[in-house]
Amino acid sequence: MTKDIVIIGGGLGGLECGYILSKHGMKVTVLEAASTLGGCLQTFKRKGLTFDTGFHYVGGLGEGECLHPFFNYFGLTGLPWKKLDPDCFEKIVFSDASYCLASGYKAFEDRLCAYFPAEREGIRKMVSCYKEVSSHISDNLYPGKENPANELLARGAGDFLNAISSNRRLRDVLCGSALKMELSGTLPLYVFCEVNGSFIQSSWRLEGGGARIAEALAASIRGMGGEVRTGARVTSVIEDAGTATGVTLAGGETIPARTVISDIHPASLLALIPECRQVRRSFRSRISSLENTFGMFTANLVLKEGALPYENRNVFVHADGADLMHPDPRKTESVMISYYPSGSDRARAIDLLSPMAWELVEGFGGKPGQRGDGYQELKEKKLNECIALASKAIPALRDAIDYAYTSTPLTYLSYTGAPCGSAYGIRKDWHAPMTTMLSPRTPLENLYMTGQNLYLHGILGTTMTSVFTCSQILGSENLAEEILKK
Ligand SMILES: Cc1cc2nc3c(=O)[nH]c(=O)nc-3n(C[C@H](O)[C@H](O)[C@H](O)COP(=O)(O)OP(=O)(O)OC[C@H]3O[C@@H](n4cnc5c(N)ncnc54)[C@H](O)[C@@H]3O)c2cc1C
Repeated sequence: MTKDIVIIGGGLGGLECGYILSKHGMKVTVLEAASTLGGCLQTFKRKGLTFDTGFHYVGGLGEGECLHPFFNYFGLTGLPWKKLDPDCFEKIVFSDASYCLASGYKAFEDRLCAYFPAEREGIRKMVSCYKEVSSHISDNLYPGKENPANELLARGAGDFLNAISSNRRLRDVLCGSALKMELSGTLPLYVFCEVNGSFIQSSWRLEGGGARIAEALAASIRGMGGEVRTGARVTSVIEDAGTATGVTLAGGETIPARTVISDIHPASLLALIPECRQVRRSFRSRISSLENTFGMFTANLVLKEGALPYENRNVFVHADGADLMHPDPRKTESVMISYYPSGSDRARAIDLLSPMAWELVEGFGGKPGQRGDGYQELKEKKLNECIALASKAIPALRDAIDYAYTSTPLTYLSYTGAPCGSAYGIRKDWHAPMTTMLSPRTPLENLYMTGQNLYLHGILGTTMTSVFTCSQILGSENLAEEILKK
C-alpha cells in the first residue's frame, strides 16, 4: 500500500514531522536504522541508571517562552521536566574565578552587570540581541513574513562579541557555555542568540533522559494510525522521472510513498539517491563539501553513593589559556558537567562532555567495543583530561567515581550515522548563510529534508526546522498559526 509519508530517520526531526503530518490526517511511516529511536536523544542503561548520549537540557520551556508552544503542541510539556536553579542555571568556571548566570533576561543582565560594572553597555547590547531573536523566533515559519532578526544570520558571533566589549573575561563568560554550539569564526550571531537566548529564558533537564521525548512522539504517531519502525535502514530512495516514489530498506523491502522526508544528513541522503538528471553533480558536490561541526567526547560517570552533592545547574569549566571564541577540539580545553536529576541532595551520576576532533578517532575502524587497544588508550587519556579539568569545579570528583562509560565521535557515527560523528550537523557560516542553511526542498519532487543539518540545531532549532519542513509540505501558513495559537 502506498503511504502518504515515509520518513527516513527517527531522530527528533523525523518524529516531529511524523507527528505533525499524522495530525493532519496523513498515513505516516517513520523508518529508523538503529535498534533504538531518537538519534541524539537515545539513552542507555548501566548499573540501573539511565544515561543520555546526546541531549542534556533544553531552554525556553516555561510558559510564554520560545519552545513552550511547540512542545505543548507535541504533547511534551507533561514529561517530567526539572527546572534548573533560576539563580544559577549555568556556572562558568575558570582557574581564578567562577560566574553564576541567572535565568530571565533581566536577572541575567543584572547579574553580569554586578560582575562587570564597567561593561553595562556591552552587556545590554548582548541581551537585547538575545531578546530580538527570541521574540521573532517564529517569524520565519510564516512564508513572506519579514523577520528583523534575520540580519543576524549574516553577522558573525565572534565579531559581535569583540565589538561589544574589549573585556576578555566578559567575552569568555558570555561564550562560556558555547559547547552547545560550535563557536568558531563562522558561527552566525543569530544561532548564538537563538541557542543562548532560549536557555537564558529558563533551562530544564528531563528525568529519564531524552529517549522520553522520542518515545512520547512515537506513541502519539502510532496512536494516530502511523507506523514507527526501528532496525529499518533505508538503503535507497526510489526515483521515477525526477520524483521520489518511495524507499528501499536493507533486506530489499520497498515502501512506496507519495512523499519522502529525510531526517538524515543531506550528504548521506544524496548517497541514497541513484544517479539521475534532476540531481546534478554540482549539487551533490556542493552538499558533500559542506563542513560539519565538531563531535563530542562524553564520559557517563556512575558516582559512589553519597560521594558528591547534586547541583541543579550545568557547569562549564575552561582551561587556562583556552581561546573560547576559537575552540580547538584536538585539545581538552573545555568541559561541560551535567548532573542527572536526583531525588535527593546527593548526585548519583554525572556526564562530562568535551569537543573532540574527528581526526583523533577516524583511524580506528571496527564496531563499538572492537576498536582495539589504541582506541581504548585514547579514550582513557581524554577521560583523564576531562576529569582533571572538571576537578577545578569539583575537587572531589576523581575519588567519587565508581565507574565511567565513554564515547567519542566514532560512537556517534556508529549509532546515528552523523558524518564525522558531528554533534550539531552542517556548520552554519555567516559569510554564506544561504549556502550553509539549506532549504527543505530537494531537486527531486516529493523529497524533502528536515533535521538539525538544515536550518538550526538543538532541540529548539530542530523543532523549528521540523515545522518549517512540514509547512512546505502542507503548503499553508496555518501550521505556525495552529501551533502558536494553541
Ligand atoms: C553530544 C550531544 C549533546 C547535545 N546536547 C544537547 C542539549 O543538551 N540540548 C539541545 O537542545 N540539543 C543538544 N544536542 C543537539 C540535539 O540533540 C540535536 O540537534 C537533535 O536531537 C538532532 O535531531 P535530528 O533529528 O536532526 O538528528 P538525529 O538525532 O541525528 O537523527 C537522525 C536519525 O536518522 C537515523 N538514520 C541515519 N541514517 C539512516 C538510514 N539510512 N535509514 C534510517 N534511519 C537512518 C539515525 O540513526 C538517527 O536516529 C546535542 C547533540 C549531541 C550530539
